[in-house]
Amino acid sequence: MTTHHHGHHHEDMLSVEKARQQILREFEPLDAETFPISDSVGLVIAENVRSGISIPTLDNSAMDGYAVRSQDVTAASQDNTVNLEVIETIAAGSLPTKPIEPGKASRIMTGAPIPDLADAVIPFEETTEEDFLGTADIKEIGIKMAASPGTNIRIKGKDIEKNELVIEKGHIITPATVGVLASMGMSHVKTIRKPVISILSTGNELLSPGEELSDGKIYDSNSSSIVASVMLLGAIPKYVGIAKDDMDSVRDKLAEAMDSDLIISSAGVSKGDYDMVKDVMSEHGDLQFWSVRMRPAKPLAFGILNKNSRKAVPLIGLPGNPVSSLVAFEQFCRPAIQKMMGKTNLERPIIKAVLKDSIENYDGRRVYARVVVTKTETGFVAETTGNQDSNILTSMLKANGLAICPEDEHGKNPGDIVSVVMIDD
Ligand code: AMP
Ligand code: MG
Repeated sequence: MTTHHHGHHHEDMLSVEKARQQILREFEPLDAETFPISDSVGLVIAENVRSGISIPTLDNSAMDGYAVRSQDVTAASQDNTVNLEVIETIAAGSLPTKPIEPGKASRIMTGAPIPDLADAVIPFEETTEEDFLGTADIKEIGIKMAASPGTNIRIKGKDIEKNELVIEKGHIITPATVGVLASMGMSHVKTIRKPVISILSTGNELLSPGEELSDGKIYDSNSSSIVASVMLLGAIPKYVGIAKDDMDSVRDKLAEAMDSDLIISSAGVSKGDYDMVKDVMSEHGDLQFWSVRMRPAKPLAFGILNKNSRKAVPLIGLPGNPVSSLVAFEQFCRPAIQKMMGKTNLERPIIKAVLKDSIENYDGRRVYARVVVTKTETGFVAETTGNQDSNILTSMLKANGLAICPEDEHGKNPGDIVSVVMIDD
């Protein structure tokens, strides 16, 4: 269960799958809450939703036209106009006041309720309506079309029957879902709540963007890219700032971060780092430091802080190099967050592509190479975005996929088929 690493040998490295498994088994879908539909897209519905109403709520007209009795117009055609007395106009949103007796008709607008005894609507185009353009009060209308019962009538409950199970628990809310909920009159729905993700960086060298650069310092890019990644997943980022490489600073920042569903830190998890970062993190729980058999993003920390207490909170410690932190986020944080959000498909789509250039694999790890995938007539083509060093963040800028070179292969050559994890949403 616990994997210690004693050196650089592959046997001591944890496979990507094993690391993922060990992380993911510590996460469960969060509890449900009642949430406004307007802000719910992407969330998972936490209840079976039944409709309190029928939709349509009443039989109504599918066209602007005349509500008639079909048996009154059986003889009607373009050459044989049947005249009916017009008794009222029914607008959408108002109710008919008169039934359609033989020889009568009501002007009716799309969406307006069908009057009693009418069983068809004849569209304006099939009547003498245009003869009356500008007439306020039409007394009689010529019908030029026969219609079978039900023509141009939208039946009550045709879309949704009252009490029908419309949306099942586990459904991921789309704009259409929000529309259906609204159509049933629901302003709120029970969803799995959004996880709060604390994000912190560690390192004496780090400055926040906006601060003035000084020698030896760099800007903290990891926090920004991780906050953005968390937002894109629909979770709530809580940026707690930069911890210095000293015990008190790390302690302070961690204390601020404890009030969340997951803490994501970056840097301070590789060998040769200031041990105090590890030490402080370990004060709060059993943090494990792993070497994952992947490139980039080999070093990774994982543990549950305050384990066995009510305020237990998992921590994923990402590597410091900017590309490593994003690639490790993809592999480990994204599925953990998705799982908390109640999602069951935690995988990104993987496609097969023909590699245009090559991928090196010199030490038996699984390589995730940053590639641009394009669709051609013969299928997908993947091309690396250039320098694959883990500090070259701009190589991530162009990438829409991560092409995999497996652990047991020395590399991939031009023309080889590669699996590519698509990372663009
Ligand atoms: P470390 O894991 O602390 O040894 O960091 C590895 C590399 O990542 C170093 O070059 C750090 O300067 C860099 N690094 C660490 N944290 C960040 C960050 N938040 N933003 C950008 N680069 C970072
Ligand atoms: Mg550091």
